[in-house]
Amino acid sequence: MSVSRQKATSGINERAANAKNEPGFTEKITDIFGEQVFNDSVMKERLPEEVYKKLKKTMIEREPLDPTVAEVVASTMKNWALDHGATHFTHWFHPLTGSTAEKHDAFIVPKANGQVIFQFSGKELSQGEPDASSFPSGGLRQTFEARGYTAWDPTSPAFIRKTKLGAVLCIPTAFCSYTGEALDKKTPLLRSSEALSNSATNMLKLLGVKDVSYVDTAVGLEQEYFLIDQGYYNQRPDLVATGRTLFGAESYKGQSLDDHYFGAIRERVQNFMHDSEQKLYRLGIPVKTRHNEVAPGQYEIAPVFETANLAIDHNMLIMEVMNDMATKCGLKFLTHEKPFAGINGSGKHCNWSMMDSNGNNLLKPGDTPSENVQFIVFLAAIVRAVDKYASLLRLSVALPSNDHRLGANEAPPAIISIFLGEALNAIVEALIAGEKPGATKNGTIKLGAETLPEIPKDNTDRNRTSPFAFTGNRFEFRALGSSQHAASPVMVLNTITADSLDFIAENIKAKLDSGTDFDSAVSQVLKDVFSDHQRIIFNGDNYTEEWEKEAAKRGLLNLKSTPEATTALKAESTYALYAKYNVLSKNEVDARYNIKLEKYVLKLDVEFKASLDMACTMILPAALKHQKNLADSLDSVKSVLGSVPAEQKKVLEDLSSNINSMMKAVNDLKLLLTEAPTDDHMEHAIFYKDKAIPAMNKIRKYADELELSVEDELWPLPKYREMLLLL
Ligand code: ADP
Ligand code: MG
Repeated sequence: MSVSRQKATSGINERAANAKNEPGFTEKITDIFGEQVFNDSVMKERLPEEVYKKLKKTMIEREPLDPTVAEVVASTMKNWALDHGATHFTHWFHPLTGSTAEKHDAFIVPKANGQVIFQFSGKELSQGEPDASSFPSGGLRQTFEARGYTAWDPTSPAFIRKTKLGAVLCIPTAFCSYTGEALDKKTPLLRSSEALSNSATNMLKLLGVKDVSYVDTAVGLEQEYFLIDQGYYNQRPDLVATGRTLFGAESYKGQSLDDHYFGAIRERVQNFMHDSEQKLYRLGIPVKTRHNEVAPGQYEIAPVFETANLAIDHNMLIMEVMNDMATKCGLKFLTHEKPFAGINGSGKHCNWSMMDSNGNNLLKPGDTPSENVQFIVFLAAIVRAVDKYASLLRLSVALPSNDHRLGANEAPPAIISIFLGEALNAIVEALIAGEKPGATKNGTIKLGAETLPEIPKDNTDRNRTSPFAFTGNRFEFRALGSSQHAASPVMVLNTITADSLDFIAENIKAKLDSGTDFDSAVSQVLKDVFSDHQRIIFNGDNYTEEWEKEAAKRGLLNLKSTPEATTALKAESTYALYAKYNVLSKNEVDARYNIKLEKYVLKLDVEFKASLDMACTMILPAALKHQKNLADSLDSVKSVLGSVPAEQKKVLEDLSSNINSMMKAVNDLKLLLTEAPTDDHMEHAIFYKDKAIPAMNKIRKYADELELSVEDELWPLPKYREMLLLL
């Protein structure tokens, strides 16, 4: 083993032993939960009653906030933060980079007497003005007018992030340009939640449910990740720069034995999980489930679902806290979708449902006929939405790292479809056929004057291959990448569902206006919607080739890569949809189109550079050394035996030919990159996808073959079998 790899391996035990649980990390969860959050109980205790009531109204009913309220909240928040040792505050926001951003300001104001006092005004709480010139804007903002504004989002509570020596008050904020255009992920998400709330509330009213004042989107995100030892990570420039290994022959033992999934969690890993969770509980994040995943070195953490905005903020915090904690434990936390070839990649399942202001889940089949009508109406809206806007859903999970996963027989395909399960599917078919009770084996119940088959309460069907599956009381969108910000997929789901609810409501109303009775109007519209969009329902195995063919026959989209998926943003229907619901203006859509492609190209540029550098400065030199050793050895053999045995000569010939091929592949990629059409984002991206990525893959192919023949001691990079199996 090379000296540096040797060192990394022998350092593992020490790193594991050094990662002792931090003091105070064994406290009762109920004692520490939310202690670093400016949450309801803190507000109730510290704010004057009037102010508390007004703030709550803003938070729950999304009413505009009174500026005098902001002043009182700010000073109360500051005092609370100071009590927790905070020295600084920051507006915490979600720029279009896909990560979070923060710029810290101390709470101090200098005084004439040479001293300082602590101060934090309502204006500082409500609005910030970070220099935004270096965040992606996709053309929304010229650098010379770089001002961007952050605006307090009172619907996600402020929290304190602590380090060993200090603490910072973090205020969740939206981020927009001088002209009010959204430069972030949160703003469109909040707009979409409002759109869905309005449309869903109107639909409920139409169905006779009058006491609902708003509808919330509930989201539960299951986060998958890998852990490897930090010592190995530091020696992998590809992991450091790109988050994934660009080289590496398969481990002898991968995931074929299925012995990692739900296996006993190793102590080192469990300690890491424990410490992370203690931090997350203090931040009020209800993490609940943890387990080993399918691939060796792969794990999952899942919190209990929350309101979409909060769940997504919390998901970002989960990734950040775990990343920091891993470093403390001598580990590296990897959220890339495909860090290792040949074994499963990581996703982020997004469980999504709608809750009304009385806490009822609108995706839960009910007890009474009218509740079931409501359920089927919402279901129909989602079926239509997913079929009509499949391209937008696909786009919402498109990123270069996720391109490795979607359609790779470990994750849902790039074809969007819906899994309903046998029982629900039978109901849909009965509705389309206009059948009467008794049509399904499940028996029937009365639906007002009309009839509907019985809706099973506990839908236990589990289809793990579907990108968008109904799981009893929610949909699970499984195509999200593990590293991605979850706001875009949820924004799309919210908006397209709002659109379909309105469509269905308008159609029901039109029938009512023309004299049709209520039950018949609903049945007729449901029948039409399900007939028109049934093609999106698929209950079989999504990983098969037959499905790919069948989907093509049904006219479903199969957008295999990010550049292809991005074309959806240029469709007139996309502009119209987002404009109608005030989610994104045309400018904002165009900006996202530019950023998507720009980021695609930039991310790949890093991969190409890393691949070429590692090939030329690490892998080829090792192979050449090995070649020399072999040649020298054959020389010696010849001088003793008079000739070189054919088998031995062949080993050298094969090695040499592999080295030649790899050198040629390196030169090919270098040359190719000089020919990239850089003037047009789309052409550039397509060129990378069609030409440069295959060229880079070729380099890897030869390098991975060399890894299997070059003397282990000469090999400079930690191998898969080390990174994945040694912890
Ligand atoms: P599984 O691995 O079986 O899909 P998990 O228990 O790991 O299930 O994760 C399910 C996620 O779905 C959790 O975050 C859970 O809180 C969330 N969830 C449960 N019910 C709902 C709901 N009605 N709406 C949104 N998310 C939900
Ligand atoms: Mg799941």
